[in-house]
Amino acid sequence: MNLEEYRGVWVFLEQQDGRIAPVSLELLGAGRKLADKRGVPLSGLLIGDQVRELATVAFQYGADVVYLYDDPIFHYYRTESYMRAVIACVQKHKPEILLYGATSTGKDLASAVATDLETGLTADTTMLDVDQETGLLEASRPAFGGNIMATILCKKHRPQMATVRPKVMKALPPDPNRTGQIVEERIPLREEEIRTKVLKIVRETSRRVRLDEADIIVAGGKGMGSKEGFQLIHRFAEAIGATVGASRDAVEAGWIDHQHQVGQTGVTVTPKIYFAIGISGAIQHLVGMQNSGLIIAINKDPDAPIFQACHYGLVGDAFEIVPLLIEALQAESD
Ligand code: FAD
Repeated sequence: MNLEEYRGVWVFLEQQDGRIAPVSLELLGAGRKLADKRGVPLSGLLIGDQVRELATVAFQYGADVVYLYDDPIFHYYRTESYMRAVIACVQKHKPEILLYGATSTGKDLASAVATDLETGLTADTTMLDVDQETGLLEASRPAFGGNIMATILCKKHRPQMATVRPKVMKALPPDPNRTGQIVEERIPLREEEIRTKVLKIVRETSRRVRLDEADIIVAGGKGMGSKEGFQLIHRFAEAIGATVGASRDAVEAGWIDHQHQVGQTGVTVTPKIYFAIGISGAIQHLVGMQNSGLIIAINKDPDAPIFQACHYGLVGDAFEIVPLLIEALQAESD
């Protein structure tokens, strides 16, 4: 493989319901920095049906070029059709770096493409950099239970690929005057060649917890002592209009559902305010909430690691402090 032939940074632009996924816009922000450092263009790879106008959005968020596959065959995401398009485009234009959001679509597509192209893929990356000279992508992610950050290089194969967690990178402010070049692509692909058919889309009807979109999160940990004790977290969250989060130990104790878990094996969150109550502050928890605007910790152990990571810390018993906070808030609203 002649590595010199590969040039440019690409972002797979995930789209659904006429909208580019927020993580793809974040990746255009991160990709812009990598591309500028290397002095190469930043491109988006857009696949879908009637999605041409989304290229404008990609330009506003930093892309110079958009490779566009616009065909009814791409109406729904299906691994086979999308991977065929990505592979054809990569083989034709040879990017040095290709980034995907670590969403269910991004993870599925990236692993299929990596296997077919026999190139490396770093999953669930939380930091990205590039060596200006060699062009080696430095993709970092927590490893060994979050005890170390591993920086992973792909020295012998191209493109260098990574999936990146939502909410970790920052999108650039959109520039309405920014435009770019659309490159239309096609592949000879017939519906009969694709083994999967979408028969019906069933929208989830249960109320999903959108922790990643919450402005205020009140998270409780093992320090709440029991399922009944954890109710105090719900009461406090309700009093201040917050969404409830939890540590893994609280989830594993069966006090709350896994969709509320914050951290390495849960959701990454960046609310304006994050309350960590009865949470020790293990690294696997911190990686999921450390970029919150304001972190307030309540813990009865003054040496708990959470106090190294918070902006404000209250040392004391949550069962004494939190009811006082709720009371004070209620008194104020009366
Ligand atoms: P503990 O560590 O037991 O802490 C409880 C805290 O509550 C203590 O600091 C204690 O002082 C305090 N406390 C006790 N009583 C009170 C009281 N009355 N008032 C105030 N404070 C009180 N963890 C996550 O959270 N998210 C993850 O995604 C995650 N992923 C992981 C992935 C791997 C591979 C591994 C190995 C671990 C992972 N963990 C994760 C687990 C993590 O290592 C910790 O075990 C976990 O975060 C601890 O949860 P905790 O802080 O609630 O419990």
